[in-house]
Amino acid sequence: MSLRFVLVATRHPGNIGATARAMKTMGLSELVLVAPETFPHADATARASGADDVLAKARVVATLAEAVADCGLVYGTSAHVRSRYYWPGLTPREAAPRLQAAAREGHAAVVFGTERIGLTNEELEGCHALIHIPTDPEFDSLNLAQAVQVIAYELRLALDLPPLRPARDVPLAPVAELEQLWAHFDAVLREVDFTDRNGGPHLLRRVKRILSRAELDQHEVNILRGILSAVQAKRRRAGSTP
Ligand code: SAH
Repeated sequence: MSLRFVLVATRHPGNIGATARAMKTMGLSELVLVAPETFPHADATARASGADDVLAKARVVATLAEAVADCGLVYGTSAHVRSRYYWPGLTPREAAPRLQAAAREGHAAVVFGTERIGLTNEELEGCHALIHIPTDPEFDSLNLAQAVQVIAYELRLALDLPPLRPARDVPLAPVAELEQLWAHFDAVLREVDFTDRNGGPHLLRRVKRILSRAELDQHEVNILRGILSAVQAKRRRAGSTP
């Protein structure tokens, strides 16, 4: 239904314009800007050179959560290979058919970070997986709009591939529901004292990583939420009988 490109905290409006152009050449038009530093701006319009319609339609939102809440599949992008070990990693070529499949069934998004520092760890962890464009390891950071172009091109090529799999019966769970699932896990893990020794976030991060890799559908999220609620109910009953 839709394939969305999300730019987080872009500093240079020229990069927003160049992104719109890169997208439009590959037949993509849904651009969402999370807290851009300066937009709209003449530099954005100039660099869009003809993709003004994509810029005009661009939605500006305050948070990444808002930009992807309804998406069943969200891939972040990272200039560092290191991140691939930290979170499931894909090349643009691996990611493109999966994004196209998800976009046929619901909403899918690719998220790009801010020019100097990229996406924060928290932003990366809100994604199902990370796309890294293979580069020289000594010089791995592309210009933002050029990274957009490479990924948009692979998405274009993937349109010609046979569908990755039959359409799902049950849609992927939107990110907003996954966020509720993480919060529920957090609550139950605390209730049963299954936490990091130092109270840190590592354990929950591991749980999120496992479940993000699984690309859960709505029924699967309901099952996990049901299990967590059953644990809570049982504990409450146990607590009330001395
Ligand atoms: N030092 C930053 C570089 C940011 S470049 C970092 O650690 O990521 C700005 C954005 O361009 C990145 O957030 C990412 O969205 C995209 N980008 C740049 N190089 C990339 C690469 N090799 N693979 C995937 N995305 C890349």
